[in-house]
Amino acid sequence: MSFKQLVFSGVQPTGNLHLGNYLGAITKFVALQETHDCIYCVVDMHAITVWQDPAELTRNTREVTAAFIAAGIDPKKHIVFNQSQVTAHAELAWVFNCVARIGWLNRMTQFKEKAGKDRENASVGLYVYPSLMAADILAYRATHVPVGEDQKQHLELSRDIAQKFNNDFGDAIRAHGFGDAFFPLPEPIIQGPATRVMSLRDGSKKMSKSEPSDYSRINLTDDADAIAQKIRKAKTDPEPLPSDLKGLEPRPEADNLVGIFAALDNKTKADVLRDFGGAQFSGFKSALVDLAVAKLGPIGAEMKKLVQDHAYIDSVLADGAQRAAAIAEPNMNAVKDIVGFVRRK
Ligand code: AMP
Repeated sequence: MSFKQLVFSGVQPTGNLHLGNYLGAITKFVALQETHDCIYCVVDMHAITVWQDPAELTRNTREVTAAFIAAGIDPKKHIVFNQSQVTAHAELAWVFNCVARIGWLNRMTQFKEKAGKDRENASVGLYVYPSLMAADILAYRATHVPVGEDQKQHLELSRDIAQKFNNDFGDAIRAHGFGDAFFPLPEPIIQGPATRVMSLRDGSKKMSKSEPSDYSRINLTDDADAIAQKIRKAKTDPEPLPSDLKGLEPRPEADNLVGIFAALDNKTKADVLRDFGGAQFSGFKSALVDLAVAKLGPIGAEMKKLVQDHAYIDSVLADGAQRAAAIAEPNMNAVKDIVGFVRRK
């Protein structure tokens, strides 16, 4: 069975949107608008799997929405909304909790990392986070999911859930006229030179919203001075830049900065090394500062402006939610019929 191509992705409103989110995810969201119908979701229900201050959650939800728009996502041509406004996410997540196996969830590395040593004290929501993520995507029967490298395992789980649902309910799916499969197996889109942007302080750690040192990341709201300072202070090694990719392999910090440069300039890492191979880091960092300020400065400024306008942002989310629900609700009704739930008609 073939499914109409549809893009879905989500970003958590957990503060400190950074260069990793931008290069790993948001730039891809922007590009895909040219070729696909796209649904971009601020996943507030995922955010509360770890404690969020309520006022901050509201603020961060508006900030991610502002970032989407400032980066170039068109909320009229495509759909931008926050997850909690469309009830199908929670409803389908419950069905998927009953399809997914405990053994599958036990393998999720993000849960292990986020729960840390005190696993008994993690929320139940954090454990079933991947079922909700599968529900996000599959409530729309979306086929393509742009994400950073860290989400690959969750996407594989989404495929496993879709596949098991299609198998377990195969007879009902056919009986209700949906062919052999109700859900597509969603494909991750993880491409380009910056699918895993690393900390500026430690090339072995992912750039992350929750890292205590602000020098580890470039925030989308950083001004030109902050961007310059952080790049100048970024950890490097004493050697000049290599002239080929092989030379980057044992040098994670150099590899990271070259990847960031390439992604910001729409080039490959090999292109960047052609221009900067043999250069000292000081010169390369100056060029990177100029590039980063030129690309991120206007987005940060626009974001700060948009986020003030609560009425506008909230109207974007409400309009998006309404259009999202119009797609998800019929799918959810079909799921209810397939599973055998009696429903109001
Ligand atoms: P999150 O902030 O966890 O909601 O992530 C939102 C999106 O940004 C997801 O697609 C992540 O894979 C992506 N992302 C987060 N951190 C990074 C990073 N350091 N490098 C590349 N992509 C990232």
